[in-house]
Amino acid sequence: MTRITVLGATGSIGQNTLDLVARDPARFDVVALTGGRNIAQLASDACKFRAQLAVTAHDDLLDDLRAALAGSGVEAAAGQAALIDAASRPADWTMSAIVGAAGLAPGLKALEQGGTLALANKESLVTAGPLVMETARKHGARIMPVDSEHSAVFQALVGEDMAAVERIIITASGGPFRDWPRSRLATATVAQASAHPNWAMGQRITIDSASLFNKALEVIETKEFFGISPQDIEVLVHPDSLVHALVGFRDGALMAHIGPHDMRHAIGYALNWPDRAALPVARLDLAQVGSLTFEAPDHARFPALRLAGEVMARGGLAGAVFNAAKERALDGFLEGRIGFLQMANTVEEVLSRIYPDNGLIDAGFSLDTVARADHVARVTADQVMMDAAAPHS
Ligand code: NAD
Ligand code: MG
Repeated sequence: MTRITVLGATGSIGQNTLDLVARDPARFDVVALTGGRNIAQLASDACKFRAQLAVTAHDDLLDDLRAALAGSGVEAAAGQAALIDAASRPADWTMSAIVGAAGLAPGLKALEQGGTLALANKESLVTAGPLVMETARKHGARIMPVDSEHSAVFQALVGEDMAAVERIIITASGGPFRDWPRSRLATATVAQASAHPNWAMGQRITIDSASLFNKALEVIETKEFFGISPQDIEVLVHPDSLVHALVGFRDGALMAHIGPHDMRHAIGYALNWPDRAALPVARLDLAQVGSLTFEAPDHARFPALRLAGEVMARGGLAGAVFNAAKERALDGFLEGRIGFLQMANTVEEVLSRIYPDNGLIDAGFSLDTVARADHVARVTADQVMMDAAAPHS
């Protein structure tokens, strides 16, 4: 039996993970499931999978969770310490699928157990890549990438020597606004930004896909996970979302990973590795698909990729600042405080205000220094958004 824990079990990745687990119940022993405000989903899954422990991130929902689990034998807990406790319970395989910087600390705790961490939470690598990789190394833990592009790269690298890799190309759908002129982007609504042309995902990553901030995070994730120089990472817009990534080798070969847009592929690969088990995903009929299209990203309309380049060049905790500013700007957009284009403006302004603070950015990597950089970036982002909203004198 493989003991598994799912952090962020009620989300899009979490539910896709449980879908695979449910198809092979004899193989898995579910240790802990965590969620947020969706107590009904969390409790029903905890009962269905006979989890030891169910945790909501919100202290105020503990009574609701307890009530929903009454008589089930599943332990209920709430809050930050309980999330860490969930990640500390012995498990062989842990899915890290909390959204945002909040996923870092529980993921690190899981790595300390020395098992496998299936990493969907890209923010962990963006905010604290060196800390995450070093924690895994120190405890003999394995990280399996779950982002579709990174899983694709990982698969294209099986049996290959990193020294022969010239470049890594990750694809981007371009999102719902791929063809929109800048003037129209200024008017984009939350509903429009939440409608991804191909993938069904949580709302935050969907909007990040529309702004290309998701791809910006993924470029940094690529650098941290595969240890490749930023100049050897490319982004290619591919509206069909069927080629997830390509690895270019020094002999000129490009190994492309092609598959349907279904996260159960990347999750299942991480769950079954080093085996390839049968997965319930659609089989592509390429004759039916007919053609695949590619184009270069437009940096003028979507500044996120340029900002990611600057963040990697700055190094240190710039990634933590970048991610936190992006999370806050996204909150601002979701709450109607700023427009779509102001998200990138806000992040850029936060970076330029914080970059000179070497004490903050070059403080080294620990949970405390990352939390501090994250906090300062959020406060600064709020200030930038308030400044932008203030009437000009
Ligand atoms: P989601 O919003 O659907 O789910 C997020 C989960 O995290 C939920 O269980 C929620 O309750 C929990 N959560 C939210 N805030 C929390 C907090 N502060 N503390 C603890 N738990 C919290 O998100 P998702 O789309 O499943 O994405 C999860 C992660 O996987 C993200 O990092 C995302 O970038 C990454 N990812 C997602 C996809 C996808 O297809 N959805 C693909 C690649 C990578
Ligand atoms: Mg991705």
